Amino acid sequence: MGATGKDLELVNVTKRYGETVAVDAINHHFAPGTYACLLGPSGCGKSSTLRMIAGHETVSDGSIVLGGTDVSHLPPAKRGTAMMFQSYALFPHLSVAENVAFSLKMKGVDRPDRLKRAGEMLELVDLSRLADRFPDQLSGGQQQRVALARALITRPQVLLLDEPLSALDPFLRIRMRSELKKLQRELGISFIHVTHGQDEALALADEIVVMNNAVIEQAGSARDVFNAPRTAFVARFLGGHNVIALPEGKVAVRSDAVRMTDEGAGRMPAQITAVEYQGTHVNVTAAVAGEQEVTALLPDALYFAQPRHPGEPVGLTWENDQQHPLQA
Ligand code: ADP
Repeated sequence: MGATGKDLELVNVTKRYGETVAVDAINHHFAPGTYACLLGPSGCGKSSTLRMIAGHETVSDGSIVLGGTDVSHLPPAKRGTAMMFQSYALFPHLSVAENVAFSLKMKGVDRPDRLKRAGEMLELVDLSRLADRFPDQLSGGQQQRVALARALITRPQVLLLDEPLSALDPFLRIRMRSELKKLQRELGISFIHVTHGQDEALALADEIVVMNNAVIEQAGSARDVFNAPRTAFVARFLGGHNVIALPEGKVAVRSDAVRMTDEGAGRMPAQITAVEYQGTHVNVTAAVAGEQEVTALLPDALYFAQPRHPGEPVGLTWENDQQHPLQA
C-alpha cells in the first residue's frame, strides 16, 4: 500500500462532556507499526479517546500529534487516521465494492480509479469474489471484512477500531482476531483497538494501555502488564491474579504461581473452599484470615498427586519473584 507508520502522540488529552470528565489529561506515545489495545471497563473513556484521535469528537484540552504534526483540529479525512466502524454501519443499498469505494467518491476520485482501489482492498481482505453483493447477502464475518476494507482504502497511517469484534459469535471473533493481527503486520501501520475484553487484548496487542476512571492506569507490552500489574485494579481486570493483603501492603500473585502445602507450612494458613476440575488444570480456592480468598491454578498432575478437598486446612505458598507489590 505504500503507507508507512507514524508516531502518534497524545499530549494532555482531555475530554469533558458538561460536568463529566471522560478523559483526564492523558499522555501516551504510540510507536509506529504497533498493535495497541485500549483496555478497560465500560465508561472508562476508551471510545472518547479513540473518537478524539479520529477527529469524530473534539478535544477539550491537549493535543493529538501524528508524525510530528498537531492534527487536533483537522477534520477526520485530513488526519491520516481512519476508523473502522461496526459492520452494521455499511450502506445497505450499495454493493460491497461501492461501500469500500465510498470515501474515495466523497473525495472526488473518478469511478474507474475508485473501483480499482476498492478491488485491491477487497483482495487484501480476501473478498474479491463478493464485490457485487449487497451487505445483507454477506455473513457477519464478511461484513466485518468489508468494514475493514472500507476503512483501509484511505491509506491511513493509524487504523482505529472500536470494539470491532463484539458483534461476532465467539468462533468468528477468534478467527477475525487473527485476521486483524495478520493484516496489521502486513500493512506495517498502527492499529489502535478498543476492547473491554482482557483475553482479546492479550491475544492481539503488542502494547496494552489499561484505562480506568478517565486515566491510563498502566501501559506496556502485553506480557509486562500481565506479569507485573502495578495496581490492584490492573491485576483484577486482567484476571489470573490474586490480590493478597500482607502486613507490608497488597501484592499480586498469579493464580498459576500459588502452591498448596500441608497445614502449618507455607506463607499463610488457609482452608479450601472449592475445587473445580478444568481439564488441564484444577482450580482450587482457599479462604485465608480476613475473608480473603486465594485461587491456585494447579496443573492436573500436581493436584492429583495429592488431592485436597473443601474444608481441608492447608498452607499457601509462592516464590518470592512471583509476588508483585501493588500501588495503593
Ligand atoms: P468507554 O468507551 O470506556 O465505555 P466512553 O468514552 O464511551 O467510555 O465514556 C466515558 C464517559 O463519558 C462515560 O461516563 C460516558 O457516560 C461519558 N460520555 C461518553 N459519551 C458522551 C456524550 N456524547 N455525552 C455525554 N457523556 C458522554
